Amino acid sequence: MHWLKGLKARVRFKEPLNIHTTLHIGGPADVWVEPGDFEGLREVVCRCIKKQLPYLVIGRGSNILVSDDGFRGIVICLSSPVFSATEVKGTRLICGGGLALNKLIRQAQKRGLGGLEFLAGIPASVAGAVAMNAGNRNRAIGSLVESVTAMDRKGKVRLLKKNQLKFGYRRSNLNRYIVLKVQLGLVRRSPKKISENIAANLAQKRRTQDLASKSAGCIFKNPFAIRHPRHSRLPRNMHGGQGLTAGEMIEACGLKRRRRGGAEISAKHANYIVNRNGAKAGDVLYLINLAQRQVKKKFGVLLEPEIRVIGNNPKNREPFSSR
Ligand SMILES: Cc1cc2nc3c(=O)[nH]c(=O)nc-3n(C[C@H](O)[C@H](O)[C@H](O)COP(=O)(O)OP(=O)(O)OC[C@H]3O[C@@H](n4cnc5c(N)ncnc54)[C@H](O)[C@@H]3O)c2cc1C
Repeated sequence: MHWLKGLKARVRFKEPLNIHTTLHIGGPADVWVEPGDFEGLREVVCRCIKKQLPYLVIGRGSNILVSDDGFRGIVICLSSPVFSATEVKGTRLICGGGLALNKLIRQAQKRGLGGLEFLAGIPASVAGAVAMNAGNRNRAIGSLVESVTAMDRKGKVRLLKKNQLKFGYRRSNLNRYIVLKVQLGLVRRSPKKISENIAANLAQKRRTQDLASKSAGCIFKNPFAIRHPRHSRLPRNMHGGQGLTAGEMIEACGLKRRRRGGAEISAKHANYIVNRNGAKAGDVLYLINLAQRQVKKKFGVLLEPEIRVIGNNPKNREPFSSR
């Protein structure tokens, strides 16, 4: 493809996307691009726009289900070290979007900066975590974000201040951008205390979630948290679905361990669908649909997927998966 010549980027064709997702599912992307620096990224975006080719940025692939047909377009990944640089100014930490969230937490710890411990164990990139507003039942990363440097759809780099950022339950207004850098407001805390907090959070996560299997984390959003994104701690009986979590409703439908092909609704946490053995995206979509139908029938609640479906089939595709 001559239009890709001279790019400051690593380019691969027909790249299997299963190796770039935590579910280990997905067909090939037409083109896989790892820009070498910011200019390389801008050039890729501008060329895609000029050629009117769909493009998509992914992080660690921990919240996506890629179609078995793959993606007809360009997948961009910010894997180059320039996208992972960090800088500290007092209690502010500015970090590249490509950095792994767990590395960020450890770097903050070394510098005596706390506040990120509740995110321990989430296998995300910083950009993916901010774009998805990742978090736990009580807090999400958006509450720490002071500003974001992002590239818009025209390849222009913009500084988005706090009042321009919108965070909701597992969503943000950043999907129209490519997140490059994030400024976080943290607090002074001793590395020992941070270490204890991380260990407690990890232990809780390991106890309740199926971290040993291939998955994309929780498949569905919790209905009570969607209605009250800032008040997910309201008494559960104030919400729909009899106040149950998505996992509890799926479990109540007797769907734990239900299999389709190589995919299975986890026996440990019913909101996890795990890839037991060579699962296809179609197997996962079948189980998603089954859980939605049964929960709707039993509880009158339509579960909304938290994961993003990537592909070119308009039936399965999320509007934000390609531009
Ligand atoms: C075992 C496991 C446990 C998990 N636990 C949690 C949890 O406790 N809490 C939680 O919230 N989530 C959890 N997740 C889900 C997932 O880790 C988060 O949603 C995470 O934020 C996704 O980050 P990522 O870098 O992997 O993004 P990806 O999955 O690669 O992408 C997710 C979305 O972000 C967009 N995106 C990625 N990079 C950028 C960028 N640079 N600019 C703009 N948009 C971008 C993508 O286009 C896509 O729409 C878990 C997942 C797993 C596998």
